[in-house]
Amino acid sequence: MSDLNWNAIADESLHLLQGLIRLNTVNPPGNEKIAADYIASILHSNGIAPIMIETAPQRGNVVARLKGDGSLPPLLLYSHTDVVPVEREKWTMDPFGGDVKDGYVYGRGSIDMKGIGAMQLAVFLTLARQGVLLKRDVILAATADEENDTNQGIGLLVRDHPELLRAEYAFSEFGGFSLHIGKHTFYPIQVAEKGTAWLRLRAKGRPGHASVPHDDNAVLHLGHALWRIGRSNLPLHLTDSARGFIEHFGNGMGGTVGRGMKAWLATHGRIEPPNFIFKTESIKRELYAMLHNTCSPTGLKAGSKTNIIPSEADAILDCRTLPGVSTSQLINEIRAVIGRNHERYEFIVDSESRPLEFPTDTPMFQHLSKIIKQHDPNGIPIPYMLTGATDAKHVSQLGNICYGFSPMKFKPGERFMDLAHAHDERLSIDALAWGVRVLYDVVSTC
Ligand SMILES: [Zn+2]
Repeated sequence: MSDLNWNAIADESLHLLQGLIRLNTVNPPGNEKIAADYIASILHSNGIAPIMIETAPQRGNVVARLKGDGSLPPLLLYSHTDVVPVEREKWTMDPFGGDVKDGYVYGRGSIDMKGIGAMQLAVFLTLARQGVLLKRDVILAATADEENDTNQGIGLLVRDHPELLRAEYAFSEFGGFSLHIGKHTFYPIQVAEKGTAWLRLRAKGRPGHASVPHDDNAVLHLGHALWRIGRSNLPLHLTDSARGFIEHFGNGMGGTVGRGMKAWLATHGRIEPPNFIFKTESIKRELYAMLHNTCSPTGLKAGSKTNIIPSEADAILDCRTLPGVSTSQLINEIRAVIGRNHERYEFIVDSESRPLEFPTDTPMFQHLSKIIKQHDPNGIPIPYMLTGATDAKHVSQLGNICYGFSPMKFKPGERFMDLAHAHDERLSIDALAWGVRVLYDVVSTC
């Protein structure tokens, strides 16, 4: 579509983003209805009738659909409208001002993920106005409660209104943005995400008077277990998506790193990747998390009185499972690390979500890679596993293939992960303008 005025579309996406930033949807409490109403009013004024779903007072969700000719199944573009809280005194700009300075729009959610929501909405409006003949229905969903996930958002929609969101493919956070490493520009497309297992590790012992110490003390047992967890690696698992990431990343890097990765892949993950391959600590840690189930102790609870040896002591564990690994397999791995005296330890599952892994040998994955390369001929699209979790855990229950695809072209040194949830969260206007074009090209021709 050569007749499109891309400057005007970029301006519109910026204004949409500023409008969203100015609505305070910090979760808790969320209050996302104001964002849903805002998006609905824009859709209405463009002749599109959205569906509004309030899952609880002030927890609003909005869904709209552009009809295709039905020759291919639908595509879903979804985003969450809630944001994480701010420490206002640590910001140099108003986190809810949506002000522009030096080419950046500042505000909570500009990156995660109102910027992406604005981009999706701008693409949706452009498709509608142009009257583009679509093969697929294109569904737009802006939903509540991702950041706190008390299930007032897309989880409830999936359960109660599955027909609204069922699609062949679904795009959302995290991926499609540029990642600069050395002189290379990668575009990780999220094709997998780890599961969560929030556990309590309970150590048990013999109660007693603290003035007469004994060694069957629950606090000491818990200390032993945590020390072992902190000192040990859980076993390495080479999943398909991690293999794909390392393969493509290595090919892109070339040189010593590329050869090192290729040689390591030939071991099929029987040994840990050699340290020399990754120079930066953050990439090393990220790769570690892509190859292992992980377990971070994040809290402790034991004892009621100084002079009583308690019979139980609890640690809170935030654990993450790789695709293909169940929570009980993870617990077995942790038990093996702790070692002796299994009967002393009990694991309580507080909450869990399953890991996800989607195929990369699809026409859509090819399409995404092709369009990225059209807009950045030096860019290298690669499949990517998110070590965190997104709303894809809900959306995938409908059978949708979920790709983290929110195209943005950052400047070297800017990293999505450093900007999301950060003080002075900001998105460059150029990155947004680039993303709208890429996403439009993807959606209008898929
Ligand atoms: Zn997010």
